Amino acid sequence: MIKWNEINWPTFLFFVFSPIGAIAGVVYVALYVGFHPATIALTVFMIFATGIGITGGYHRLFSHKSYEASKLVRWLYVFFGSAALEMSVIEWAYDHRNHHRYVDNEKDPYAITKGFWFAHILWLFRKRGTGNREEVDLNLVQDLWKDPVLRFQHRFYLPIALTTSFLFPAAIAALWGDFTGGLLIAGLARTVWVHQATFCINSVCHFLGTQPYSDRHTARDSWFTSLVTYGEGYHNYHHEFPVDYRNGIRKYQYDPTKWLIFAMSKMGLVWNLKRIPDEKILAAKMEMQEKKLAALSEKKAQSVGFAEGIAALRESGEKTLVRIQERFDALAKNMKEMRKEKKSRTEMKDLRKQLIRTYRLHNQKAVELMRQISSQRMPAAA
Ligand SMILES: [Zn+2]
Ligand SMILES: [Zn+2]
Repeated sequence: MIKWNEINWPTFLFFVFSPIGAIAGVVYVALYVGFHPATIALTVFMIFATGIGITGGYHRLFSHKSYEASKLVRWLYVFFGSAALEMSVIEWAYDHRNHHRYVDNEKDPYAITKGFWFAHILWLFRKRGTGNREEVDLNLVQDLWKDPVLRFQHRFYLPIALTTSFLFPAAIAALWGDFTGGLLIAGLARTVWVHQATFCINSVCHFLGTQPYSDRHTARDSWFTSLVTYGEGYHNYHHEFPVDYRNGIRKYQYDPTKWLIFAMSKMGLVWNLKRIPDEKILAAKMEMQEKKLAALSEKKAQSVGFAEGIAALRESGEKTLVRIQERFDALAKNMKEMRKEKKSRTEMKDLRKQLIRTYRLHNQKAVELMRQISSQRMPAAA
């Protein structure tokens, strides 16, 4: 629980009154000003620009260094990230690096283990230096502190943030005579929307969805959450492999942040995009599959009271799985060696296909075995 004297009053009041102000603002514009189509377009632009300022900039570039970016891109991220009103890059990255380091533990600043609403928003109501909300330790963000642009943003955060989030859209919309709409819709209402959307990464992404890569933390994958979080819904993958610039690794998975980073790399604006090798990703999935199999066998053995039968069935099935796993490991080793020799993706194409095929076979056999184990009944007494 947060004590009265630990509350960060300006933040608390802002989060209480900004949604009320946003609703009132939308009603006011609807009744007295009217929605200008250009302002609606500006709002949509600002929703994406400021949201991706957080996910592509604050998160994947500055906190995780999952790629490198040109000065122009860094400036744009700082500009639009500031407009999301989520603190300076230095503060944000400090909290986020601690989140990864201590995930779900006492020192995780927005641990889901303290409740959904704590992870979503309540953690922000605490003053720095009270409870688990530590003062920023520059040692953890040394690399960012070295950047004069980030230091400047950190020092003058409030005026920069207020200018970029409210005055900037209002001034743009004033070009077509809609200062009020720009301020209330593209400014205030958009800020509130982006807050709630990005806060879902800390709450819903640790609450809803599946755990295909790891169960060592609460992070979950969900395509549905991705829709509002600019692609950050594939959070189980992200916590397992935080240096990957992608969160949704399949081409079709909705991750607009990844698409933008990739497009910018084709234009030469960003580079050195980090990707986790396929064999490592698939190995993590196989490990999770094995864990599920073990958990199911144990549960079933207890519930049907037929432990020997289940164990025998599992043992025979496991032999096949081990054989496939050995083949997978050999292919993975080859892949690793080829990568060391700096072979291109096209050169490794066949090997990669074989690796994926072997993984799929393992998956299929594991699912079959789980189905067999699930359908086991206690043998009728003779
Ligand atoms: Zn997380
Ligand atoms: Zn992260």
